[in-house]
Amino acid sequence: MNITSKLPNVGTTIFTIMSGMAAQYKAINLSQGYPNFEVDQNLKNLINKYVQAGYNQYAPMAGVLELREQISKKKKLLYGVEIDFNTEVTITNGATEAIYSAISALVHKGDEVIIFEPAYDSYVPAIEVNGGIKVSIRLKSPDYKIDWDEVSDKITDRTRMIMINTPHNPTGSILDKNDMAALKAITKDTDIIILSDEVYQHLIYDGCVHESVLRYPELANRSVVAMSFGKTFHATGWRIGYAIAPKLITSEIRKVHQYNTFSINRPLQHALADYLKNAENYLSLPSFFQEKRDLFINALKDSKFDLLPCHGTYFILARYKDISDLGDQEFSRWLTREHKVAVIPISSFYTDNTDEHIIRFCFAKTEDMLLKAAERLVDL
Ligand code: GLN
Repeated sequence: MNITSKLPNVGTTIFTIMSGMAAQYKAINLSQGYPNFEVDQNLKNLINKYVQAGYNQYAPMAGVLELREQISKKKKLLYGVEIDFNTEVTITNGATEAIYSAISALVHKGDEVIIFEPAYDSYVPAIEVNGGIKVSIRLKSPDYKIDWDEVSDKITDRTRMIMINTPHNPTGSILDKNDMAALKAITKDTDIIILSDEVYQHLIYDGCVHESVLRYPELANRSVVAMSFGKTFHATGWRIGYAIAPKLITSEIRKVHQYNTFSINRPLQHALADYLKNAENYLSLPSFFQEKRDLFINALKDSKFDLLPCHGTYFILARYKDISDLGDQEFSRWLTREHKVAVIPISSFYTDNTDEHIIRFCFAKTEDMLLKAAERLVDL
């Protein structure tokens, strides 16, 4: 039988490969982005409570009302905005589904979607499987900023969507007020939709402010925001996130979501709704992760790695030119095999596999694990 692949260039994700290698070689896994510490016991108890209380049948398609309501309250508290939980919030199977459903619902065959590379690996396949055309723009070294003039130049009458991601995976860069002003100016009087991946909204450091598109009505009116509970509450395995978008856009997203996942794990949604009532559960995150970032940076200060600035996310990039001439794919595999620390090569975030000899460490780990990894890395 002959099958013509819709995604001929897609293989196994680098996260799966490197986590697999980490297990195989018993390496410390600083590759795939997930915490090695536990979910808050209170949250676990809440899930148990709702499972025991019999909340085990289908949730409503758009998500449990109480959770959507709490999300809308949270956005009011954080960004001072009114989000209508009936028409503007949809609970999804992780932010990945929010992104996929949004692209699938909004991008038509031949539509252009602007992405910034290095880019998270799910973006391009989601665009291409839906018949869209990716238009890629490089973030500018050394601090991975967006060149907005270049964005302006790349806009055509086929541009349907611009995808942004702040704080940014894998670089740890963030968008600032000027970026948001530029985005506003560029999209004004157009039908361009912004897909804003904000899964690391709470992982932002040194007192920086998270510039959510929700803070800017002119942007929010044309945006889909993808957010994640997995990243926020140390539970990436739960696969639960949400999409916020204006009513018109939300109703299109729900058409896809409805026939893709139909609805999301119900007891989890009830538990999260209760847990969100205590804002401290998420307001404490920047300092919690900043401590880890600083500990890791400090532990590597005598190493030959050249760490790049990290303003957000739980990732930090490092150049290794003083250690090895290997390409980043080979270097990552060598480090995992021979020195038992697994990392992610940054070339995997470029569609043309640009190799700048940079790797990504995930520091969402306990102190002992970070120190143990740093010990091995300092020896190189
Ligand atoms: N978001 C995680 C990362 O960047 C990976 C998620 C996945 O494995 N798909 O490492």
